[in-house]
Amino acid sequence: MADPLIATARIPLADPAGVLRELCEHFVEHGTVTLTEGGGRLESPFGVVTLEAGPAVLTVRAECPNDGHLFIVKSSVAEHVVMFAGDQPVTIAWSGDGAATTEIPYFREMTVRRARDITPTMRRVTLAGADVGHFETGGLHVRVLIPPAGRKPRWPVAGSDGRVVWPQGEDELTRRVYTVRSIDRARGEIDIDVVLHGDSPGSVWARTVQAGDPVGLLGPGGGDIVPADWYLLCGDETALPVIARIAEALPPEARATILLEVADASERQPIASAAQIELSWLHRDGAEAGTTDLLETAIKAAAWPASGTPYALAGCEHGQARAIRSYLRKERGLSRDRHLVAAYWRRGHGGDAVADPE
Ligand SMILES: Cc1cc2nc3c(=O)[nH]c(=O)nc-3n(C[C@H](O)[C@H](O)[C@H](O)COP(=O)(O)OP(=O)(O)OC[C@H]3O[C@@H](n4cnc5c(N)ncnc54)[C@H](O)[C@@H]3O)c2cc1C
Repeated sequence: MADPLIATARIPLADPAGVLRELCEHFVEHGTVTLTEGGGRLESPFGVVTLEAGPAVLTVRAECPNDGHLFIVKSSVAEHVVMFAGDQPVTIAWSGDGAATTEIPYFREMTVRRARDITPTMRRVTLAGADVGHFETGGLHVRVLIPPAGRKPRWPVAGSDGRVVWPQGEDELTRRVYTVRSIDRARGEIDIDVVLHGDSPGSVWARTVQAGDPVGLLGPGGGDIVPADWYLLCGDETALPVIARIAEALPPEARATILLEVADASERQPIASAAQIELSWLHRDGAEAGTTDLLETAIKAAAWPASGTPYALAGCEHGQARAIRSYLRKERGLSRDRHLVAAYWRRGHGGDAVADPE
């Protein structure tokens, strides 16, 4: 195994112990936190962060298996230190691995190769670029960075404090989270399936892209396929790409119940899988997306196997995701590592910050 990458920062703060406490409380949601006398240790799949609060300095040490994980840890710690320091101006200077570059390790510039409708409201955008194998591990989703029309794109860089520095003003990028539906290493291409739902920036992008258009991708992220004996995979059309991708990757011995909510029969897509699949399509038949309880009702009616390890994944509108998460946790007793229920979008809210992974 390669040596871990290590970065450290000494951050002058008025109340280092207070910021340390808040960091530890926050990261309980994302990993294992151990508190020690004057310090703390945060362990997550991305790496290990050790914190030490001195009289006026918070010392942070991050140890991660690769440069992508190290960047995520550094930027996340930096963002949260700034947030928890409140009004106080904060200067963070990292040293060690990754300090000498402004490149974001998991950023890739790609080029649109083509786009075509695969159902009346789902459009497949094919992107080409070097090293598409990069998207095979580390998560199933990417943040798509759409440059302003007619301008040469300026992409984000890594600031010396570890945070992402975004282009501003006329160069501001539109950011949206999508799933990498498929990866074709031989052709150097990936597919992204975009739901067309009016004049939103993501829909307009997918409808109007031209071969040769540049696009930026940050990722992948958002979790890989979790091993299980039985899967409950549910969602509306925004989660159809991830569910189809997972179904395609499951081994023959796996079983899966798949519940997919779409507008009507014209939105159905073939779901290929070597696994034993029970697939149900739920049609809104005229109701607006995000206004029905079709998914929740179908999930409550689903038959669960008597034995074997389950895993549930759901992606849909925010309100539905809350109801489904609550049912899986409270009624089905699923532990955090046995389910991922995420708001993929939120009625009346636009942008890339609505994602609510837990
Ligand atoms: C992990 C993850 C993976 C995702 N994967 C995909 C994917 O593969 N394909 C995909 O199409 N989407 C996917 N999404 C959802 C997508 O990011 C959101 O739908 C996003 O809001 C789309 O941006 P937009 O510019 O179209 O709309 P926004 O500008 O964000 O929103 C504009 C308006 O449209 C509404 N809106 C947003 N999405 C929908 C929708 N689907 N139907 C109806 N109204 C909507 C909003 O409530 C808002 O009122 C994913 C989200 C997450 C978190």
